[in-house]
Amino acid sequence: MMNLELQVREKSNQNVNKCLQCLKCSSGCPIASWMDYKPNQINRMIQMGDKDRVLCSSVIWLCVGCQTCLTRCPMQIDIPRVMDTLREIAIKEKIPSKQPNVTMFHQLFLNSVKRWGRAHEVELIGLFKLKSGNLFQDMQAGQQMFLKGKLNIFPEIIKDKKAVKQMFKRSK
Ligand code: SF4
Ligand code: SF4
Repeated sequence: MMNLELQVREKSNQNVNKCLQCLKCSSGCPIASWMDYKPNQINRMIQMGDKDRVLCSSVIWLCVGCQTCLTRCPMQIDIPRVMDTLREIAIKEKIPSKQPNVTMFHQLFLNSVKRWGRAHEVELIGLFKLKSGNLFQDMQAGQQMFLKGKLNIFPEIIKDKKAVKQMFKRSK
């Protein structure tokens, strides 16, 4: 079986072997304090072939893709793309997510885009709350957004839903 470093390189076109372990990525990451491993540690574990630990980590699901790390990296390693690739590999290899709610949110978001052409927030929030059981979390913020017209009850219809369907088909 192909080792993780090669898998990552092939899928993301990123060479984590270039990592200098300078920690600029991790020290700038806005969610580093919630991560079980920091981005530089993930790079190191990929280099060392510690596939299980990388794919079972919570950081691959917590990374929000903000690109701060990429902007700061002297070697221009695209860590958000590496994280996306690791998520993809973990799903393919059926490794249970350490952050099931985050994984579920990703799936619901994609389903919504597939259905409407863009995310329908009210549906997305409703389904997420039902499935996660966090029914009353962030109620106040939701109410305020609704009153200020930030949440539409009905989905926005896009012109070319067919193109979106084709895009999903091609990505399989
Ligand atoms: S893209 Fe991910 S790893 Fe990089 S700084 Fe943002 S959250 Fe952290
Ligand atoms: S900033 Fe780049 S080179 Fe430095 S530790 Fe992070 S990934 Fe490695």
